[in-house]
Amino acid sequence: MKISACIQQAIRQAASDLGCRAELARRCGIDNSTLGKYLKHRIRRISSENWEKLYPHIAKYLPRNHKLHPPSLLGLNAPASLDGDDLKLRRMLFYAYSDGKLYHDDGELQDNRYMPFIDFRRDPVDLIDSKMHERVVRSFVQASVERARCPECGEHLGIRGSQTTQDDPSDPEVFCLAGQHWSGRLSECVKPKYK
Ligand SMILES: [Zn+2]
Repeated sequence: MKISACIQQAIRQAASDLGCRAELARRCGIDNSTLGKYLKHRIRRISSENWEKLYPHIAKYLPRNHKLHPPSLLGLNAPASLDGDDLKLRRMLFYAYSDGKLYHDDGELQDNRYMPFIDFRRDPVDLIDSKMHERVVRSFVQASVERARCPECGEHLGIRGSQTTQDDPSDPEVFCLAGQHWSGRLSECVKPKYK
């Protein structure tokens, strides 16, 4: 993968939002010095291994139509050509799932609103199924983190790193947003009270 100005810009923005480039390096598991070489064009091509690590952390800073997803997200085992009913059903699933809100004029059926991205045209059915399930878990966990509170002070919580880097995505590491005096697992936090 050639390192374009778009990619450099996305790295800079991600690093700036996290406070520094070292933090971005730590989160994606790539040497900070390597990221520096990408930015200065001392390295002109990014390996597919590093691209897979980096991509989730800079995806939201890339142009909306950026097509250079990591190979593992592309569904490389997808059928070469789809027969009529298969394509029709995939398109119907895409319409229903995206609530008609996604752009599809060019014949693409991609939902890149959230990770993991889904390509309803190319991803094998099993992969679409597992990605949709992963999205349900993610949004459920996200909602649980928003409702839970710090066991020490009762303040709101943040997820450590990103959901993709958690060892147990259903019970992520979280920390108190009020001064970061506490961190632990979501399951250790104060449960929300419903009135
Ligand atoms: Zn607290």
